[in-house]
Amino acid sequence: MKYDDVTHGLWDKTALNAPSFDSIKGEHKADVAIIGGGYTGLSAALHLAEEGSDALLLEAQDIGFGGAGRNVGLVNAGLWLMPEDVIAKLGKEIGEELIRVLGASPDLVFRLIEKHNIDCEAVRAGTLHCADCSGGYRALEQREAQWQKRGAPVTLLKREAAAPLIGSNSFMGALLDKRAGTVQPLAYAYGLAKAAHNAGAKIYTKSPVTSISRDNNQWKLITPNGVVKAKAVILAVQGYADNAFKDMQQNLIPFNYFQFATPPLPEDISKTILPERHGAWDTNLVLSSYRIDKAGRLIVGSVGQVDNMGYALHKSWAQRTVAKVFPQVKNISFEHAWYGRIAMTTDHIPRFHILGPDFITVTSYNGRGIGPGSVFGKLMASYIKSGDKSIIPLPLSEPSKVFMREFRGLFYEVGARIYHTAQRRVSFF
Ligand SMILES: Cc1cc2nc3c(=O)[nH]c(=O)nc-3n(C[C@H](O)[C@H](O)[C@H](O)COP(=O)(O)OP(=O)(O)OC[C@H]3O[C@@H](n4cnc5c(N)ncnc54)[C@H](O)[C@@H]3O)c2cc1C
Repeated sequence: MKYDDVTHGLWDKTALNAPSFDSIKGEHKADVAIIGGGYTGLSAALHLAEEGSDALLLEAQDIGFGGAGRNVGLVNAGLWLMPEDVIAKLGKEIGEELIRVLGASPDLVFRLIEKHNIDCEAVRAGTLHCADCSGGYRALEQREAQWQKRGAPVTLLKREAAAPLIGSNSFMGALLDKRAGTVQPLAYAYGLAKAAHNAGAKIYTKSPVTSISRDNNQWKLITPNGVVKAKAVILAVQGYADNAFKDMQQNLIPFNYFQFATPPLPEDISKTILPERHGAWDTNLVLSSYRIDKAGRLIVGSVGQVDNMGYALHKSWAQRTVAKVFPQVKNISFEHAWYGRIAMTTDHIPRFHILGPDFITVTSYNGRGIGPGSVFGKLMASYIKSGDKSIIPLPLSEPSKVFMREFRGLFYEVGARIYHTAQRRVSFF
């Protein structure tokens, strides 16, 4: 085990064979330096190395320290926003391209898993977006129509058809998205790191970049014990940007999400919950997620952080929720509780910034980063090689400060605590 139980919980326990890399020392040169060892940075390093570039990745802690090692593991297709909302915000040309690229992102994830033989509990059975009320069901009708118009294999199931797939009568229906699936998220990151390393990328962990400067038409990256000179830089730090990238943090609204995992359930019970091993979440504004891991543990998650005061409150919510949604689970107990920080933007659209000559970042996946991180890492690798900006299906934007970002982050946490105490509807957006 590499990590603290409250940060990486179950995933740290069940992701076996963590790759081991040295920290960087002395002077190094590379074509492309990549900062951050999550899906985005690892996918960029892998694709650059496969195309013959000299790629060098620096991770401040260990592989998967950020969102990649803490998330729910739902490999979703598309953004959280509905397709027509994406078009309304980005226009038809870029919007449709972003929808197309991210709609196909699970294809890339599962292709990489197969190609590189990544052992990460991958299941491509689809996901179920469950309607918790009639308003939620109507929103799913819109989602179904908008995706079907674009040829996506999504189907809205009525209560009777959805209940046996969820293993619960608590929902009015569910949108089945056959493009999607689930993974053990930290194990997927470990597998990407090994694949990138095998392809020739140099990877260094415990090597935080503390400053970057421009020197003789090259970028100079400083770490505590080493220096890297590179022609190009890809920044891939998302919600886990540390002090060196404070400015990037100003762009994001921090949003915490926790998960509780039961011990492996008896087989006769675990096979009644999400029996086809779909990943699931609901339409509630304070959303909840449900999935089963390979060993048959039920994992429930929702908005909030499980530190000190938050732990008891959210644990009590998780117990009540399991009792209500899956009453077949008896003697509910939890083996792990952990949480992580999601990088949100005010309009729920990721950002593409050019921070200097051949220095780029795509950031803020708004809680959907397994597919997007894998895709944007690959696309940023292509952009660096070709210099063609149109490869990235996002408008170019300037980093800008989010007004009252700390307050907004606190608002999510306080709202979730009130909701999880009172189980009332709280409007977040
Ligand atoms: C609790 C939670 C649940 C989520 N659920 C899902 C889900 O079910 N499905 C989904 O698709 N997405 C989900 N997400 C989002 C997803 O995890 C992220 O979008 C994804 O991890 C982003 O990948 P990344 O590589 O861009 O960034 P990260 O995985 O966050 O990696 C960034 C890395 O940069 C490193 N770093 C920071 N500063 C420096 C520095 N100065 N020098 C070197 N390295 C540095 C960090 O240590 C970190 O390892 C969830 C996120 C959280 C937190």
